Amino acid sequence: MYTLDQIITTKKPHVCGSKEWKIIRVGADIKLECQGCKRVIMMPSYELDKKIKK
Ligand SMILES: [Zn+2]
Repeated sequence: MYTLDQIITTKKPHVCGSKEWKIIRVGADIKLECQGCKRVIMMPSYELDKKIKK
């Protein structure tokens, strides 16, 4: 379950080296903002489940 403004950590770092992402939209797709470079990506929640560190 994801909530707005939640900070999540991915197993692999982004191209900028940051592993932290802020959730900026929730729905069928989750919108994430990289905390290193501020780039925004979208992915389905089931895909995100596999990428985050619990
Ligand atoms: Zn980044």
